[in-house]
Amino acid sequence: MNPKWNGQFSCFHLVAKDATKTNGQIRTVIRVRDLEIGGSEFVVMAGPCAVESETQLLQTAEAVAQAGARILRGGAYKPRSSPYSFQGLGVEGLKILQKAREATGLAIVTEVMSEEDVAVIAEYADIMQVGTRSMENYALLEALGGCGRPVLLKRGMTATLEELLRSAQVIAMAGNSQIILCERGIRTFETATRNTLDIAAVPVLKAVSHLPVIVDPSHAAGVRSLVPVLARAATVVGADGIIVEVHPSPDEALSDGDQSLDFDQFRTMMDDLGPYLELQKDQRQLRPQLLAVGGAD
Ligand code: PEP
Ligand code: MN
Repeated sequence: MNPKWNGQFSCFHLVAKDATKTNGQIRTVIRVRDLEIGGSEFVVMAGPCAVESETQLLQTAEAVAQAGARILRGGAYKPRSSPYSFQGLGVEGLKILQKAREATGLAIVTEVMSEEDVAVIAEYADIMQVGTRSMENYALLEALGGCGRPVLLKRGMTATLEELLRSAQVIAMAGNSQIILCERGIRTFETATRNTLDIAAVPVLKAVSHLPVIVDPSHAAGVRSLVPVLARAATVVGADGIIVEVHPSPDEALSDGDQSLDFDQFRTMMDDLGPYLELQKDQRQLRPQLLAVGGAD
């Protein structure tokens, strides 16, 4: 391990790797229903930005499940940049997510924005998503310590990796070490993309932390044409999965339509990822050092 990283991250002892052990470190594998995140499978989470209606969600759930997604995403409580935007369906949205899980067997990931909503969302969700705007909401992070569900922790759009791991440590110290880290792009001087996907975050986080790491190419790109190539990049740097926005008719989506794939585009992306996933599987099983940094794995 890079000695600089050791000094930088080792204080977050519940989520950082122990640098004194160079080999055979136990990785955190998160079990959700019948699948494992951080294990041998590259897990694809997909679905609309926001739950808009039962028809919209059920159609999307069927389509993404058929194409190989294992987890359905969809926001019922939406953190919108504008107060005039659609704010989400709340509990009604959670009930629709539950129906989609019953219909397809997909696990559910959905966002929680306030500590007051943790209990109700935990009743319906399999994974609790903390969005980029909430990464440093410590009251929320602490409440998630006792929620009994894994947490998908997105990197704040202006947060360093150290700050991301600090937030993960807060959740772990509050009693929940089932945490999935998510690189979703950060704000830089570049404006051609919505955010800058920090692809190096994946191997760095994998080197310094034992937690699973996934990539959100949708919020990084901001435009749908870039989503498949960024998803491909996630596979080759050793991410444990991706979370992707998919909508039956993206141009009519109530949020994030520009970056959402339609069903055909999602299927094509999944087909195109096939050879990369095979390669990644071989690397994970046979030559894990290829995906490690400085032999840290
Ligand atoms: C989302 O997943 O729809 C979302 C709002 O993501 P982020 O917090 O990364 O912007
Ligand atoms: Mn979104």
